[in-house]
Amino acid sequence: MASLFDPVTILPGIGPTRAQQLAKLNIRTLYDLIAYFPRGYEDRTRLRAIADLEVDQPACFEAIVISHPRTAHIRQGLDLTKVTLADQTARLSVTFFNQRYIADHLLYGQSYIFYGKLEGDARGVQMINPVFEPVESPGILTRRILPLYGLTAGITNKILVKAIGAALHVCRDSLPEVLPLQVRQRFRLCDAAYAYETIHHPADFDSLAVAQKRLIFEEFFIFSVGLAMMRARRTEIPHTPYAVKDLSPFLAQLPFSLTGAQRRSIDEIAADFQQHKPMNRLVQGDVGSGKTMVAAAAAYLAAVNGKQAALMAPTEILAEQHYHHLQALFEPLGISTVLLTGSLGAAAKRAAKAAIADGSAQVVIGTHALLTGDVSFHSLDLVIADEQHRFGVGQRAALSAKAGSPHLLVMSATPIPRTLSLILYGDLDLSIIDELPPGRQTIDTFLVGESMRPRLNAFIRKQVDHGNQVYIVCPAVEENEETALKSAESWADTLQRTVFPDLTVGLLHGRMKGSEKEAVMGRFSRGEIHILVSTTVIEVGVDVPNATLMLVENAERFGLSQLHQLRGRVGRGKEKSFCVLISDTRSTETRQRLKALCQTNDGFQIAQQDLDLRGPGDFFGQRQHGLPTFKVASLTCDLDTLKLAQEAAADYLAEQTPEPDSPLMARIRALFSNQETVFN
Ligand code: ADP
Ligand code: MG
Repeated sequence: MASLFDPVTILPGIGPTRAQQLAKLNIRTLYDLIAYFPRGYEDRTRLRAIADLEVDQPACFEAIVISHPRTAHIRQGLDLTKVTLADQTARLSVTFFNQRYIADHLLYGQSYIFYGKLEGDARGVQMINPVFEPVESPGILTRRILPLYGLTAGITNKILVKAIGAALHVCRDSLPEVLPLQVRQRFRLCDAAYAYETIHHPADFDSLAVAQKRLIFEEFFIFSVGLAMMRARRTEIPHTPYAVKDLSPFLAQLPFSLTGAQRRSIDEIAADFQQHKPMNRLVQGDVGSGKTMVAAAAAYLAAVNGKQAALMAPTEILAEQHYHHLQALFEPLGISTVLLTGSLGAAAKRAAKAAIADGSAQVVIGTHALLTGDVSFHSLDLVIADEQHRFGVGQRAALSAKAGSPHLLVMSATPIPRTLSLILYGDLDLSIIDELPPGRQTIDTFLVGESMRPRLNAFIRKQVDHGNQVYIVCPAVEENEETALKSAESWADTLQRTVFPDLTVGLLHGRMKGSEKEAVMGRFSRGEIHILVSTTVIEVGVDVPNATLMLVENAERFGLSQLHQLRGRVGRGKEKSFCVLISDTRSTETRQRLKALCQTNDGFQIAQQDLDLRGPGDFFGQRQHGLPTFKVASLTCDLDTLKLAQEAAADYLAEQTPEPDSPLMARIRALFSNQETVFN
């Protein structure tokens, strides 16, 4: 009997080439095949009469071949095979392109089941390239609910249907049941074998729903058990409380007094440092609420207690910026700050690493590579992850393991409605900075169409004439004919050449090298670039107080929270700032969404609206939520199931701990290991 983790090549018809193609879909083992769930289904269960077929509506029908198939060679690379079909209601002429072999498979006088789509023009209707099967063969392409899979070059849906069918066949008896019996009984869930079989080959939509229900629950159960175990593990680790608690030298050094909310968060962190276990805290604060100072206070406490702190930013630009701010703050306090990023020169890198290793670097700033690379710390005890939504749950666990369970502080500018954050970040304590530093002006936000372009350009010029700077965010890096979206590259070029030849237009996007990005950001910070055309790389954290205008092209392409982030790049100084969303979208829903942004500057309120409008899946953006990728479960629709699965997981863990080599543990490890961090 085959084992679940045998390679796909043990299946008939799958050789090395096909295995390589499948690997592009991350399918390597039989289990990968079985767990490659359909993206959708096509209902091919109903048979229609030819006379009832409708143009552009694909359907199944049974018909007899009433002419000998004829192939005509039209020109190089174009063969047409024509055949006439009929049932009791009508005749139908069918054409196959470049499928000469069809003639051997469609026999005169025989009946077949076809599936295809009528296409009509002035001369009548015809059908092109239908699929078909003999009436007596089992339904694979017809007479069934056909699963539709995500495909890649060389791998057709048919190949996947076959391969998955074969994998299910050989593994049917070895499918592990990861859900405990009590859980299945309590929540009325079908068994694993039925669920996997049915999701790929549902007899009808009711049984499909039964299978999906179970698989969604299963996924959330695995997630919840994993999350709960990580949380439990962290609280078991002993940690020595910090002896020094006095923050006054640090506070005296600040050019402003902290807001009440900053103060409260810092107090919570300081209290965590007094515990006998490592801190595990999420600081949520709207853009511009001053999270960096909270991080700095934490780093200060670690440093004066003789420990090292690492501050990780999601981009080099941000790391650089944090470095400049913190280094200026810490130097007078006698605390040494070091920057380590991929684009430092070899010598500088070596020096930084040496200082980190011998402990002379007290506060270390970099990207996530700080903890994934070959950097060894002398006495790392505090890890701060800025812009937390880009760091996954699993990454948090991994980095804390690498550093010997340091205090962990994650900072997020994505305000998450509280209910959701309790579920998703249940492994973290929460501090909320719900107050902006005094004197901030609200940013006036407008939604305008393309017709306003001349006035917009005049407005840009007015800002620049006034000594301020402008961001223009485009949804794409390069021109792409298919999408017709504004691309940063060509738009920057156009603006520079035709609209603002006398000004300096800069370009920034994620495909540029780290050092190039930094150079551009540096020039923008120093005011040498008037107008910065960029992709969303500038979304997180960038702080240039002199910028007063944010223009977002094709604003309909962005989520509300993301737009709110972008808007947060302006309004950071004393000057009145503006955000202009440019969109010609006609969708009332989208316009409503964008208008919501024009009406409020409150990130939590926007987050709630975004969540209501789009559901949590989209709310967090593709892969940006730092959560594992769920295969069937959706944070958009299945939040109630997530709650139930969490209860079930808690009950289960109260009774037992899964064995390290159990199928459940294997699935937990798999779920949390495949996360990606998105650094654009
Ligand atoms: P974010 O929460 O978005 O990371 P930052 O930490 O970048 O915000 O702070 C935004 C700006 O506000 C910075 O220029 C920072 O110096 C300033 N700032 C932070 N706290 C205060 C405060 N209490 N009073 C005045 N300005 C502050
Ligand atoms: Mg920040």
